[in-house]
Amino acid sequence: MSNADKLQRFTFDNTHVRGEILGLSKTLKDLFARQSYPEPVQNVLSELLAAAGLLSATIKIEAMLTLQLQTTGAIRLLMAEVNEKGEMRGIARLDEGQSLNADNLLGEGQLVITIQPLQGKAYQGIVPLTGGTVSSAIETYFNQSEQLGTRVWLKAEKQQAAGFMLQEMPATAKPDADAWQRLCHLADTIKTEELLYLANDELLHRLYHEESVRLYDASGLSFRCSCSRARMGDAVHKLGYQECQEVINEQGKIRVDCHFCGQHYSFDQSDVDGLFPLEAAKANANKLH
Ligand SMILES: [Zn+2]
Repeated sequence: MSNADKLQRFTFDNTHVRGEILGLSKTLKDLFARQSYPEPVQNVLSELLAAAGLLSATIKIEAMLTLQLQTTGAIRLLMAEVNEKGEMRGIARLDEGQSLNADNLLGEGQLVITIQPLQGKAYQGIVPLTGGTVSSAIETYFNQSEQLGTRVWLKAEKQQAAGFMLQEMPATAKPDADAWQRLCHLADTIKTEELLYLANDELLHRLYHEESVRLYDASGLSFRCSCSRARMGDAVHKLGYQECQEVINEQGKIRVDCHFCGQHYSFDQSDVDGLFPLEAAKANANKLH
């Protein structure tokens, strides 16, 4: 895969259309080495990660972007996250009651898009999963929220994924009025193996050899889990002092595993005392009496 693990912008001279293209390979291998799923589930999660990567290119501020797909199908929940450094993680939750087949992977549902800036308030948008694909949900999102024509093509197989996006830029004057239609129409001819395995410049040349395409510097994408001892500590804190103390009394420590990367964290009595200083001080004072 020659466009692996990078995200690259392109524009067409004298038009109001821009694009993003990305490939994922090692990012997915690193993820699926930590979480194993049946192949159809891998493919949909890979597509969602590719979509998250494409969308991250449209955010102008430093932020964490999360796509969460909630469905009535055999895949109950899919989540893909990417931060401003191109570090990604994702997860799938299956409905154990449904057997997996090509028709019931997603069913009906919704896509929740959350943008959490490094500083400031999070933004959230929700769109229905019409058309049953991740790409159509993303297109609906842009058409509704920003009124920008957006088309997204996603392909995934064998722990490789690729994404291709065209977007209209806000423009008062459109120098080339039918550019949008023409460029989308050509992109509709992309074959899976072209998008997955051709180098970006080669693919763009093959599709758009009659256009003047400008390809910008690529940025990197990688798997990286954002879990940390501090964040796990927050999760443990939510259990409350009483429950934490019960687990410590029974098992000596509280064990928590990260669902995204499998990292183990454990919290002993002194860690719990540190998380609940007031309660711990009270408990110790009672012991002295
Ligand atoms: Zn983790």
